[in-house]
Amino acid sequence: MYELTVRRHFDAAHHLWGYPGRCTRLHGHSWLVEVAVAGEELDEYGMLIDFHELQEMVESVVKDLDHQYLNDLPPFHQPGRETNPTAENIARYIYRRLKPNFRPGLKLRRVIVWESPSARASYSEE
Ligand SMILES: [Zn+2]
Repeated sequence: MYELTVRRHFDAAHHLWGYPGRCTRLHGHSWLVEVAVAGEELDEYGMLIDFHELQEMVESVVKDLDHQYLNDLPPFHQPGRETNPTAENIARYIYRRLKPNFRPGLKLRRVIVWESPSARASYSEE
């Protein structure tokens, strides 16, 4: 089994609804996103997937989050229902946006979102 990982980063603001701490105040992070994919078969170039192609796939999702106030975006703000844009929920959102783009034989292993250099959350559906 081969596994590849790419990284992209974005900057965005958020706050946490109803959280009993300082994260309830508006603040920002430089978020780092890692996407890991896996598969058994390489193509004729010896690649599981072209790193550039995978980075473009991740970028197409991350660009919608970059320099945004995350609490205002549809994934986290529906009428009558607020979802805290935590690292966990951002990882799930990115995972579910990416998953339909994968060809058979290429597995989306996990999406990891780093909120700071020492704190990360991971999401997978395996
Ligand atoms: Zn935060």
